Amino acid sequence: MSIRRSHTRQVSVGGLPIGGGSPISVQSMTNVPTTDIEAVCSQINMLASRGAEIVRVAVPDRESAVALRSIIKKSPVPVVSDIHFNPELAIMALEAGTDKLRINPGNIRQRSDIWRISEKALEQHVPIRIGVNSGSLPGDLRDKYGGVNKDSMWAAAHRHLVLFEETGFRNIVLSLKSSDPMLTVEVNRLASAECDYPIHLGVTEAGPRLTGSVRSAVALSILLAEGIGDTIRVSLSGSPEKEPVVGWEILSSLNIRRRFPRVISCPTCARARIDVAGIAESVQDSIEGKTGNITIAVMGCEVNGPGEARDADIALIGTPSGIQLFIDGKNTGGIPGSDIQGYLGGIVDSYIRKSGKTAGG
Ligand code: SF4
Repeated sequence: MSIRRSHTRQVSVGGLPIGGGSPISVQSMTNVPTTDIEAVCSQINMLASRGAEIVRVAVPDRESAVALRSIIKKSPVPVVSDIHFNPELAIMALEAGTDKLRINPGNIRQRSDIWRISEKALEQHVPIRIGVNSGSLPGDLRDKYGGVNKDSMWAAAHRHLVLFEETGFRNIVLSLKSSDPMLTVEVNRLASAECDYPIHLGVTEAGPRLTGSVRSAVALSILLAEGIGDTIRVSLSGSPEKEPVVGWEILSSLNIRRRFPRVISCPTCARARIDVAGIAESVQDSIEGKTGNITIAVMGCEVNGPGEARDADIALIGTPSGIQLFIDGKNTGGIPGSDIQGYLGGIVDSYIRKSGKTAGG
């Protein structure tokens, strides 16, 4: 399936383009106190190693805004400052060198504040994401449009867009997030039809890892397959370590972008001759931090194993004599089950190098 992307303007976030046909980027967000510079930097590094190309940090107070300068200097990826309620914090974040601001139309609405923020952002060539959340819609719009729905969400975004456009500021990314995946789909379709600002996709308050991943995958896949969306974030409760991983799985499953080796494994059944789940986990650990456009299969037995091995770049198949390693569909012999992680790491590196199957765009 080829996806025709909706036309959007392009903005640059610390040198990384969003929109205008640029690759759909994967974002995440830290969840440790922003004042703890060491903890934030360590989390940003971890998220970047898992594929986050942009990381957002919350800036709830002046102390956090002060910490931003050091965080931004040390970060390997562009940093977005998330601001609510207090326009002064937006100004401080811009002065600290933030690569992008995220503000919420539900709580920074004064025309004079918008002018100050946009003048400063314009001067520093910093884009702003207008991030509408279904949970913090202005009350007057909820009343006017009969609750939280695509019309009240779009009206909140539009009202804010107009305020920025009046100042001449158009370096904007838009996001409209609901905890309801299908409302997220509807409102982003509407936004895409009504304007050409690049769109940041996400389902807000999506839930813990399993439900959050499923809800995000449902909404994002529908929209991305329709060509809507220029950057994505999968929001999961708790540690954000899996957010970029799930984001990349969504892009990879839609054949939009591949960056990390793909592990496939059978569900297992009574025929399984090896510990498929354990081995697949070890394989996943052995490719941690590696980039490459390859597929590694772990199959429990000889029923579907050889067939999958033919289609995969590397395959581990259970047989009566233990685990057999297939490379490019050819059986290269048995491997020990005791240290899969140590054994496979080097094989994957050398396979990616020799085959030239490095990460796609
Ligand atoms: S590959 Fe073998 S073990 Fe795995 S599900 Fe299929 S039949 Fe069962």
